[in-house]
Amino acid sequence: MKDKRKRTLAVHAGTRRSQYNEVSEAIFLTQGFVYDTAEQAEARFIKAGRDEFIYARYGNPTVAMFEDRIAALEGAEDAFATASGMAAVNGALTAMLKAGDHVVSSRALFGSCLYILEDILRRFGVEVTLVDGTDLAQWKAALRPGTRAVFFESVSNPTLEVIDIRSVSELAHAVGATVVVDNVFSTPVFSDAIAQGADVVVYSATKHIDGQGRALGGVILGSREFIRKTVEPYLKHTGGAMSPFTAWMMLKGLETMDLRVRAQAQSTLTIARALQGHPKLGRVIYPGLPDHPQHALAMRQTGSGGTVLTIDAGTREAAFALLNALEIVLISNNLGDAKSIATHPATTTHQRLPADQKELLGITPGLIRLSVGLEDPDDLLEDLNGALARI
Ligand SMILES: *Cc1c(COP(=O)(O)O)cnc(C)c1O
Repeated sequence: MKDKRKRTLAVHAGTRRSQYNEVSEAIFLTQGFVYDTAEQAEARFIKAGRDEFIYARYGNPTVAMFEDRIAALEGAEDAFATASGMAAVNGALTAMLKAGDHVVSSRALFGSCLYILEDILRRFGVEVTLVDGTDLAQWKAALRPGTRAVFFESVSNPTLEVIDIRSVSELAHAVGATVVVDNVFSTPVFSDAIAQGADVVVYSATKHIDGQGRALGGVILGSREFIRKTVEPYLKHTGGAMSPFTAWMMLKGLETMDLRVRAQAQSTLTIARALQGHPKLGRVIYPGLPDHPQHALAMRQTGSGGTVLTIDAGTREAAFALLNALEIVLISNNLGDAKSIATHPATTTHQRLPADQKELLGITPGLIRLSVGLEDPDDLLEDLNGALARI
């Protein structure tokens, strides 16, 4: 399978068949595994091979299929699946850091990622420097010999700033830091993060991998050494494992992800173009539009603007009125879903942030994040234009 293209890997990579030779992946809904002998049990606890399982918190055949499939897609040596995207972000960082370490991170992050960096890591004595991730000079100034890790969202939530994986990785590697990229908005379909220099890539599988709003999940991808020697010991003992049933849903999600995500990205571009310059909207932020400050970088890095755009209705009142006037687009907070979803970050996902932080991150009172789904884009545009006309 190794030399095959992404779409083929997404359907076949990692498949393990039972003695029944089933076509669709089996769900091994079991917490444990029986040993033939006491000696075998002992040997497995000393060293378990890739297909020798002990306990579902450590690994499970259905989960291993998902891990191998997403690793093949991402071009990573190995992967560890987690119960949620946040378990993956936390696992990747906490597994490698200790008190006294220094981390540099971009400031424009998903609220929970910011909580891990600013609250949890600092509480355990990790020094965290936050920078404007789009400004290479700030990365350069913050990095120093002994900086242990660098963390950023390759496309930030919700303001869709694109960060240069190749350049930041070069700067980070020059001081020996490990580069951890939260790649959710780039999606595994458009990602080439490892080839561009990322050491570790993290996804919330809740987003495009499931893509149908059914389950939480996450995955950490990296070198075999990092996944098995650093991540696995931490996660298998702290309980962030993905359930086998979830892994099966994610495997099914991967099979259709390419088609879904490309269609969604195409619709997002259509909608972004149509809404640009609308008299009732301020900014229309979409990396696929030529006026986006990192448009050229986005095209070089992923070749797509992705499946999310952000609009500014001006005030909180206008944003709420717009959300409440939508008929097809749902008010919710997932993204990458088959159903289009609108979110008001200032009062929901980023509510926790103090006003000055929101301002610094460009999370204005009128900002709406729009995740474009699989509906007919003409219906979505009619819904958005109709709602805009009524406010
Ligand atoms: C959703 C999201 C997460 C968290 O994932 P969960 O599956 O909700 O835990 C982390 N990072 C980014 C960029 C996200 O969009």
